Amino acid sequence: MERPLTEHIRKDLRPLTLKEYEQVGGYQSVRKALKDMAPKDIQSVVKDSNLRGRGGAGFLTGLKWSFVPMDSSIDTKYLIVNADEMEPGTFKDRLLLESAPHQLIEGMIVSAYGIQANISFVFLRWAYKEAANNIRFAIQEAYDAGYLGHNILGSGFNLEMHLHTGVGRYICGEETALLNSLEGKRATPRAKPPFPQVSGLFGKPTIVNNVETLSCIPHIVNKGADWFQKLSLTNDAGTKLFGVSGKVRTPGLWELPMGITMRELLEEHAGGMQDGLKFRGALPGGASTDFLVEQHLDVKMDYVSIAAAGSRLGTGTMIVLDDKTSVVGFVRNLMHFFAQESCGFCTPCREGIPWIEKILTSLEAGKGEGHDLNLLDFHTKYLGPGNTFCALAPGAMEPLQSALRYFRKDFEQYIAEELPHTTDPLPVKRN
Ligand code: NAD
Repeated sequence: MERPLTEHIRKDLRPLTLKEYEQVGGYQSVRKALKDMAPKDIQSVVKDSNLRGRGGAGFLTGLKWSFVPMDSSIDTKYLIVNADEMEPGTFKDRLLLESAPHQLIEGMIVSAYGIQANISFVFLRWAYKEAANNIRFAIQEAYDAGYLGHNILGSGFNLEMHLHTGVGRYICGEETALLNSLEGKRATPRAKPPFPQVSGLFGKPTIVNNVETLSCIPHIVNKGADWFQKLSLTNDAGTKLFGVSGKVRTPGLWELPMGITMRELLEEHAGGMQDGLKFRGALPGGASTDFLVEQHLDVKMDYVSIAAAGSRLGTGTMIVLDDKTSVVGFVRNLMHFFAQESCGFCTPCREGIPWIEKILTSLEAGKGEGHDLNLLDFHTKYLGPGNTFCALAPGAMEPLQSALRYFRKDFEQYIAEELPHTTDPLPVKRN
């Protein structure tokens, strides 16, 4: 089984130096692209590969790039890698950033050439200190070796690359809030359209792609679109970094073909549930996805299949719920996160999520009232798609609405004060 993204990650996780990386074929795609390929050839191979964005939304990368104007009169275009990984339960980009920085930089150079961007940024989560050190070092090595800067490898193509560390806000992962943050403004999302591909950083055409997405690019350029498609077991191309957290035997992260089943990921790779615990459900791709339950265990982990089952692949990092953990506590914990991370710009999100958190907290404390579930149902619709400025609140509603659908009895039991047995360390206060 091929694992292009992680093949050269060492067991001790130390990143390869530029020399070591070159010895295993590193930067070949830059040479190939700049010597033998026109920007439109790069765009074509990425489009043909069917690569979908790995940040969570799964938008087709080649399609996104195709919106960038290629008019030579445009003086500045930007490429930004969104490395602000803050989705709960998600730790996949961290591995690539800390242990394969040159692969990302190589992907950025080729992608920038493909859209003819001359300035690039790594927008990095503040807490990823080791990644910051490793990326900074690797960028300098790439400059010293002539892969970055002026007239790269004598091709006439120029590219600046800068590392920017964020301030630790979830909303900065939303691409237009990220752009505002990078411009030194308050990190609130912008209205779309215009999409950043047309009017992004400082009003210039800008592509924002995820770390894992851009790390795929060197391999696609070197080995072709067909090869990339065939890595997958289904129609959604490539391999994917899948993660599992929760009370499983061996939580972790694995590069696997797109389209493996949830069961395989859970049982073969994560080792199944810990002794004495049963699987109740899982959020398949970070916190802002809908629960899938036992009947979905044979669903294939790809964008189309997971959507057909009623959820989203999201970041592909699954959070598992067991039968001894309080569902209400689990969801309340997520709502606490989303309430804290709301940027406060639009009213439904700013006011609605804290209200949900209060209702869930009072349920847990044994102070629930009969109409609370109706109120929660109401909020999942009121904060759903189309009612807020960005995807934060609709994403936050996904675990809540699916918990209310699949585990409604648990909520009702809290109201009836027949609390389900829980090993959660949360204090359940009663008056
Ligand atoms: P989105 O679907 O609005 O956009 C995804 C990408 O596609 C963007 O780059 C956008 O510009 C582009 N796009 C979408 N529609 C377009 C159109 N009509 N024309 C041109 N371009 C278009 O999603 P989003 O709000 O960017 O992201 C939400 C996702 O982010 C959620 O799925 C969530 O799982 C994920 N997320 C991930 C993290 C993380 O740490 N990785 C953090 C927060 C959220």
